[in-house]
Amino acid sequence: MYIKRYPKLLSPITVGRQTLRNRVVMGSMHTRLEYGKDAVAKQAVFYAERARGGVALIITGGVSPNWEGRFEQEALTFERPDQLDEHRPIVAAVHSHRSKIILQILHAGAYAKHDDIVGISSIRSPINHRVPRPLTSGEIEATIEDFVRCAGLAIEAGYDGVEFMGSEGYFLSQCVAPRTNNRTDEWGGCVEKRIRCPVEIVRRTRARLGMGPIVSYRISATDLVEGGQTADEIDTLARAVESAGADILNVGVGWHEAVVPTIAYTVPRGAFTFATKRLKAAVKIPVVASNRINMPDVAERILADGDADLVSMARPLLADPHFVTKAAEGRTDEINTCVACNQACLDYIFSDRTASCLVNPRACRETEFPDGLTHAPRRIAVVGAGPAGMSVAMNAAARGHQVVLFEAGARIGGQINLALQIPAKVEFNEMLRYFRRQLELQRIDIRVNTPVSASDLLGEGFDCVVLATGIRPRKPDIPGIDHHSVASYIDVLSGLVEAGERVAIIGTGGIGYDVADFLTAPNHRPETTDEFLDAWGVDPLIASPGGLQAPVIHEPRRTITMLQRSSGRPGERLGKSTGWILRTELRRRGVKAIAGCSYQRIDDAGLHYSADGEDRLLAVDTIVICAGQEPNQDLAHGLRAADFDIHLIGGARLAAGLDAVRAVDEGLRLAYSL
Ligand code: FAD
Ligand code: NAP
Ligand code: SF4
Repeated sequence: MYIKRYPKLLSPITVGRQTLRNRVVMGSMHTRLEYGKDAVAKQAVFYAERARGGVALIITGGVSPNWEGRFEQEALTFERPDQLDEHRPIVAAVHSHRSKIILQILHAGAYAKHDDIVGISSIRSPINHRVPRPLTSGEIEATIEDFVRCAGLAIEAGYDGVEFMGSEGYFLSQCVAPRTNNRTDEWGGCVEKRIRCPVEIVRRTRARLGMGPIVSYRISATDLVEGGQTADEIDTLARAVESAGADILNVGVGWHEAVVPTIAYTVPRGAFTFATKRLKAAVKIPVVASNRINMPDVAERILADGDADLVSMARPLLADPHFVTKAAEGRTDEINTCVACNQACLDYIFSDRTASCLVNPRACRETEFPDGLTHAPRRIAVVGAGPAGMSVAMNAAARGHQVVLFEAGARIGGQINLALQIPAKVEFNEMLRYFRRQLELQRIDIRVNTPVSASDLLGEGFDCVVLATGIRPRKPDIPGIDHHSVASYIDVLSGLVEAGERVAIIGTGGIGYDVADFLTAPNHRPETTDEFLDAWGVDPLIASPGGLQAPVIHEPRRTITMLQRSSGRPGERLGKSTGWILRTELRRRGVKAIAGCSYQRIDDAGLHYSADGEDRLLAVDTIVICAGQEPNQDLAHGLRAADFDIHLIGGARLAAGLDAVRAVDEGLRLAYSL
């Protein structure tokens, strides 16, 4: 019965000489599990969990075929037989759950973050300060052989095949695009010479491996950078790697240096399917769609429309390793959906931390949080049903505790309900849907519209109380702060106050930026795919090199000025992989941000402040306060006095640096320690 719901997604497919049990590919992800103690065992558990969850084909994080090609200093290479044991346990773990696994081979080229950096040309990438040393013609030949040797080792380790990373701007992308290849010898110039290196790699690999193993080529279906490939050039490359022996084309979108968002929450689901569809028409081998495919219905639609043969998901399988099984068993509403925030995956990686996931902090920490019941079940009161409270309630109940969840508001979710007012953050609805369903499945007694006081908890027989009561917005001590033009972000986002046309926002943290987005978003609803592509200047026909065109910029709806006291660059603490998107969008909408302000007073004329040694007046209709938050620990004193065993988590514990990642994570950790 369920197979009928996602008939395409769950149907087998033949790739080369191998049969995959469904159309779900786990895209390559570098998680940093590759490094440190027990790296192989941890990766084996991580991948095996996804295989157990039903994924047909797993593509590993990229390993370099040689020393110079590694992405960063400690990144893995696979060059010698003595490294086979770094892979065999991983392959065996995946195979034990009937999934296939292929090794991604990635040469970073000009993206390398170490001093041995080499490239096809001596052209620096805008996202790297290092200039690559150009390879000689002989070294390019040797590099090709390194790729082929690595592929051979992969098969020896038991992998079902290999994937060559030819997208996102890494070495093979750099070879094929005029932007990065200015050679005039046999490896540069016309398109046939530029694509020669990747095509030779595929051809020689196929010759070395024979017909059995899968050879996948990850191809950039649109580069989204100036000087990138045209549609014709992409098709020429696709056909050439197909003829050279590739079994499957896995589609990548945009180089890492592109100034177009490709996977963040601001990108509509499946927005880049146009690029896969276009490419599919050029070849006969199966083509894999990727980017912002996070629910089975999105995947099924892409496959049913004939736009791709398979779908690749990476972050959604961090969020829920059992995505496929749940879809197959008709439990779609139990899927923990990736909200595309990038906060605990990419942003962790960029700050040298092991990846995890906002909605699933167990991701990459599977060995720390094994399934299992507590030996000492307790009756627990959780006060506050924000992310911290929902997380501790769900996980404690799953471990066998009896939980009552109290929420003062009319619905669960805490501040996530405010985040949802930001049109681009619509994905957070899925987070609430997931938690709601899990709390229901765990039969948790949820009492909404129930503001709890210490005395309410007496006599209910609780063994302990978890305070997840969140925060209170900070009210800065500025003369005139109670003026009628002043509103808190909660008033504005909840619709209690309608901001005027001229607005000052005090505070440039995540909430200040979200409020600016809320007040200036052109349609006050999430963008459609066409609107998104227009706004970022993406040409679906890829007529120009790189597939870019002039962006469509709307007249601003309001005049907004954001202010902060500190002197740093406004918005610099926003997420590494998403902050630039918001800053760019707001700049295009004319939003100004001023640093180094000292607030003097608020009156009928507006906001008086000083900056750069001069007194200034900002004549505005509305002043929105987004000045951070304080922990809400109102209940703690009374509960302690009544001798309750209490635990504080999330904002209630510490407001500074709070976000949903920390709140959900603290809930999980507490549930394991109770
Ligand atoms: P809260 O979410 O504040 O929940 C506390 C709950 O306790 C509330 O529901 C409250 O009603 C309840 N409560 C309080 N007192 C009582 C009582 N006495 N009895 C019963 N119930 C009580 N974070 C991110 O990571 N990513 C984002 O993109 C993001 N965007 C955001 C956008 C906006 C506009 C806002 C406002 C916040 C955003 N955040 C984001 C921050 C994130 O929502 C918070 O960090 C997170 O919700 C904190 O979780 P919490 O459970 O500690 O507290
Ligand atoms: P925040 O990030 O701490 O920012 C608070 C802002 O208020 C700062 O700009 C600060 O700048 C200013 N401020 C602090 N004290 C002030 C005072 N007394 N008077 C005037 N200004 C003051 O807090 P937030 O914006 O409220 O966000 C709360 C949490 O939610 C953050 O931890 C954030 O990460 C999270 N969040 C995350 C996202 C996301 O997309 N990831 C989105 C929204 C919120 P100065 O001190 O320089 O003036
Ligand atoms: Fe998705 Fe956010 Fe989790 Fe990353 S951290 S996998 S983007 S939900």
